[in-house]
Amino acid sequence: MSEPAEPDFLQQPVTALRGVGDAVAEKLVRLGILRVADLLFHLPLRYQDRTRIYPIASLKVGQEVLVEGEIESTEVVQRGRTMLLCYLNDGSGTLILRFFHFTSAQKYSLRKGVLLRCFGEVRQSGMKLEMAHPECHYLKADDPEPIANTLTPTYPTTEGLQQRSLRRLIDLALEHVEELPDLLPESVVRQHHFPPLANELRKLHTPPSGSTVEGMRPYRLIFEELLAHQLGVQQARHELKQVQAHTMPETNHYWRQLLRALPFAPTGAQDRVIAEITTDLQQTVPMNRLVQGDVGSGKTLVAVAAALHAIANGFQVAMMAPTELLAEQHYQNLVRWLEPLGIETVYISGNQTPRQRRRKVENLLLGIGHIAVGTHALFQRTVEFLQLGLIIIDEQHRFGVHQRMALREKGKQGEHYPHQLVMTATPIPRTLAMTAYGDLDYSVIDELPPGRTPITTVALNNERRDEVIERISAACREGRQVYWVCTLIEESEALQCEAAEVTAAMLHERLPHVAVGLVHGRLHGSEKENIMRQFKLGEIQLLVATTVIEVGVDVPNASLMVIENAERMGLSQLHQLRGRVGRGSVASSCVLLYQHPLGKTARKRLDAMRTTTDGFMIADIDLELRGPGEVLGTRQTGDVRLRIASLLRDQHLLPAVQMAAREVVAHYPERVEALTQRWLQQPDGETATQFFQS
Ligand code: ADP
Ligand code: MG
Repeated sequence: MSEPAEPDFLQQPVTALRGVGDAVAEKLVRLGILRVADLLFHLPLRYQDRTRIYPIASLKVGQEVLVEGEIESTEVVQRGRTMLLCYLNDGSGTLILRFFHFTSAQKYSLRKGVLLRCFGEVRQSGMKLEMAHPECHYLKADDPEPIANTLTPTYPTTEGLQQRSLRRLIDLALEHVEELPDLLPESVVRQHHFPPLANELRKLHTPPSGSTVEGMRPYRLIFEELLAHQLGVQQARHELKQVQAHTMPETNHYWRQLLRALPFAPTGAQDRVIAEITTDLQQTVPMNRLVQGDVGSGKTLVAVAAALHAIANGFQVAMMAPTELLAEQHYQNLVRWLEPLGIETVYISGNQTPRQRRRKVENLLLGIGHIAVGTHALFQRTVEFLQLGLIIIDEQHRFGVHQRMALREKGKQGEHYPHQLVMTATPIPRTLAMTAYGDLDYSVIDELPPGRTPITTVALNNERRDEVIERISAACREGRQVYWVCTLIEESEALQCEAAEVTAAMLHERLPHVAVGLVHGRLHGSEKENIMRQFKLGEIQLLVATTVIEVGVDVPNASLMVIENAERMGLSQLHQLRGRVGRGSVASSCVLLYQHPLGKTARKRLDAMRTTTDGFMIADIDLELRGPGEVLGTRQTGDVRLRIASLLRDQHLLPAVQMAAREVVAHYPERVEALTQRWLQQPDGETATQFFQS
């Protein structure tokens, strides 16, 4: 055990840990980890089994395994770009190790005769098997290296913070796990036969080798998280009823003017939702409404109707998108639609220099700008409004209940809070929506605009890539545009981007007459926008992208979508991606490329994609396929920011959770804050940094 614990060591900032300085602390903040205790609740996404060494002859495609052997030979080859190939032999067979970039020192250290232990994913490479960029460990001939005896967790991480460092810090925090206060009421623990909190956390962070997914399911933590969520939602709803908003009488001259100029009429569903919003805006308490509408259902127009209502009443509007790409796209739409009405749209970007931004910020403060569009940059201290009346959050899945509250606070002016409209594409059954977003009212746009041609979806074995490339060539000849999405699910963004680069280079070589563009998460905002703009203008015909294009991008002329490694993606994510095509009047198609052989669930997922394009149906099948077998990783469920619980999968717990929530409020009111702090105040990535800094 470690040094004697100070009281409340777990509540200390992470810098209290050995070896954590400001630089590391800053990275941890990006993961929502501020205090030592937060490390304990930073839970693995999945596990790697490094507890045994596999004979090369026994390897199967898709396995993530440890192998050991001697390098037989090494060569440098040229396949569009320079690569290093090492042939690793363990007596049973040979495995290729492929490196896309390498220094001459690395090349030397990977020479013939060197003994290596490698960990990586097995892939097909022609007739042979390979690992790309495995983790390598050099071995000495007569000095056997010990092997792990617990499964190795893989954590959500951030640029510049290695899994190994995270694991080390979490191990340090685990030495204090017994000191965690128990926040569940006694009676709940007894009734559900929950194990002690410390045991469950230890098991998740260091599962013994041979652990099964079923055996590891952390029921107690799932319950706690749902409870915290429930308490947060109740609190938010309660607080909101106590505050005031400006009432905005119905004034629709701008809206009527816009309708006259639009080439289409709103759908019945859009009209209905707009009417619901119009009613909300006339109340004296803030609107707090969630609008759910499948991809392409026309949520932007609904948002614009709400904005025009507020602007016609003399108020300003802030519209927030999750990425620069989407913010830029909204900006362009708004300018196109609203400029003729004399309405001034202001674009606030995280990439603008203070000088570029100053003028825009001034306009907002003076009330010259009517509507501001941007990412969370919109809510930095420097951006102030003269009279903010409405906040619109598009594609809300990255914002939890606490972020919604924080935003509202920022928009507060005097005694008045702004109205808030949240838009999401994730279909979620109504009853669940009540729990998930208990603090919000709920509307659905359940109709797509007319004139869409259905999307045909096919699933193709990766080996038929050539046919796909042929199809792309044909589509481009006909003046159509194509997406190619690289969806390697790697822990590191760097590897993802690299894979996209390789694919783009390959397609460029194979399709010399096609203008190929590449967009991924590591490009700067302005570079990304530039490429997207070129794609929208048709200057780029084939866009190779990582999943950055998942939400919201709208290019009606794009009618072919190719998704690589589709077998590894969740259904809802596949559905979102596919929603990028089928937006114009040409028949669209979606090609799901998969790696043979397909697992049972993967096959069902691809089948579902082939047979339906209905978001609600997809959500149902998704739930069924996830089933109760899944332990962790609810990230793909989308909207609600839960870490281990899943509202869909764990819905049978909800009645008990609601009862527990009542008990905590009645008998342990002081635990409400501790629970919500433990589970809810951990926004991710950029958002976290921004929120903590501003
Ligand atoms: P999403 O709900 O996915 O955000 P968008 O708002 O981006 O969808 O709309 C998708 C496309 O449909 C846009 O090109 C938009 O201009 C168009 N659109 C929206 N409403 C209608 C309508 N009522 N009739 C025809 N096209 C519409
Ligand atoms: Mg949208």
